[in-house]
Amino acid sequence: MRTIYFDNNATTQVAPEVFEEIRPYFCELYGNPSSMHNFGGQVGVKIREAREKVAELLGCEPDEVIFTGCGTESDNTAIMGTLSARPNRRKIITSRVEHPAVLSVCRQLESHGYEVIEIGVDSKGRLDFDELEQQVDDETAIVTIMYANNETGVIFPVERIAELCRERDVVFHTDAVQAIGKIPINLSESNIDLLSLSGHKLHAPKGIGVLFVRKGTRLTSFILGGHQEGGRRAGTENVPGIIGLGKAAELAMKNFDEENNRVKKLRDKLENSILKSCPDSRLNGDAENRLPNTSNISFEYIEGEAILLLLDKYGICASSGSACTSGSLEPSHVLRAMGVPFTAAHGSIRFSLSRYNTEDEVDFTIAKMPGIINRLRELSPFVAK
Ligand code: PLP
Repeated sequence: MRTIYFDNNATTQVAPEVFEEIRPYFCELYGNPSSMHNFGGQVGVKIREAREKVAELLGCEPDEVIFTGCGTESDNTAIMGTLSARPNRRKIITSRVEHPAVLSVCRQLESHGYEVIEIGVDSKGRLDFDELEQQVDDETAIVTIMYANNETGVIFPVERIAELCRERDVVFHTDAVQAIGKIPINLSESNIDLLSLSGHKLHAPKGIGVLFVRKGTRLTSFILGGHQEGGRRAGTENVPGIIGLGKAAELAMKNFDEENNRVKKLRDKLENSILKSCPDSRLNGDAENRLPNTSNISFEYIEGEAILLLLDKYGICASSGSACTSGSLEPSHVLRAMGVPFTAAHGSIRFSLSRYNTEDEVDFTIAKMPGIINRLRELSPFVAK
C-alpha cells in the first residue's frame, strides 16, 4: 500500500538531493571540521558554504546563523540566553498558542519567579495585538511569539511585533520553525532579533536547527565547551545535518513561489472538497492569512483519533494536533485558546502538505473522507439517530 503523507508539519521527507549531498559525510569525509589537517578542513569549507546558503534563505549575514541540535534547542536558547543576558528584567511575553518548545520553558520560568504573560488569540487564531501592545514595558526582557502556528498555519504579525519591541528596547524572538520555506522572510529588512528554525520541517534531516542571532543582540550561551559556532554553541558539529540543511535551503529558494503556489492549490482543493462533502465540518484558523500547506478541519461529534485510524487504513497520514501533544487525550491547547467548542476540538484533523504531494493523492483522499466521516457518525453516541 502506498503512503500518502499529509503530516509535513510534524516532519518532512529528506529531499533526495539532500540525501545525496550528505551521503559522503558519514563513511568517507568523516573528519572533524576543527582539525588542522586537510581531511577535516575540507569539511569545514562545506560547513561555511551551508551557513552561507541558510543566511541567503533568511536574508541575514552568515555569522548571524548559529547551528543547533533542533528547533526546540533554538527556542530554549533564545529565551534562556536572553534572560541570562538581561538579568534585571523579569517579564516574559509569549502567546497562548506557542509550541511546547516555548510554552514549557516559559511556564517553568514562571515557577522560578518570572512574570509570564500569555497573549490570547481570537476565534480565528489571530493574535490580540492590542493586548500585546499594552503589556510590552521596561520590565520585559523578551517577547517570544511564533511566526506561524503549527496546528492551524495562522501567520502572526511578527514584523509589527518586532517594530514595537525595537521601539521599547525589548528583545524579540520568533519561532519560525513552520514558516521557513513556506512564506518569504527577509531578515535584512526586519527588526526581529532572534529566530528559530528546524531542518526536519524543511526536507533536511532531523537533529539540526538554527538560531538566528542579529548582530549586537546580547545572548548568553548555555551549551559550553569547545569554540564551535564562534563559542556560542559548543559541541562538535552535526556535519551531515548542517550540510543537509544548506542543501535544503538552496532547494527551498529554487522556485519558491511556484512550489508554494502549487502546494496551496492542492491544499485548497483538499480543504474545499472535504468541507463541502462532509456535513458539520468547519475550518479552524484564519482562511486568508495562513501558511500555504496547512489545513485544520473539525468534524463535530467524532474523535480525531478515530478519523486518523481509518485514514491510516488507506495509507493516509495526517495528525489530530501537533505531533508532540497528540499523545494526550486533552484537546489541543491551540484550539482551546481559539474557543473552538469541545465537541469540535476533539474531532479536529490537520492536513499538512509538501512539495512531494500530488493531485492524485489529494483526489484519493477527497474520495475517502465522506465515507470515513459517515461511518464514524453512525457509531457516535452524540449524533441523533
Ligand atoms: N516549534 C514549532 C512551531 C514546531 O512545530 C516544532 C515541531 O513540531 C518545534 C518548534 C520543535 O522543533 P524540533 O522538532 O526541531 O525540536
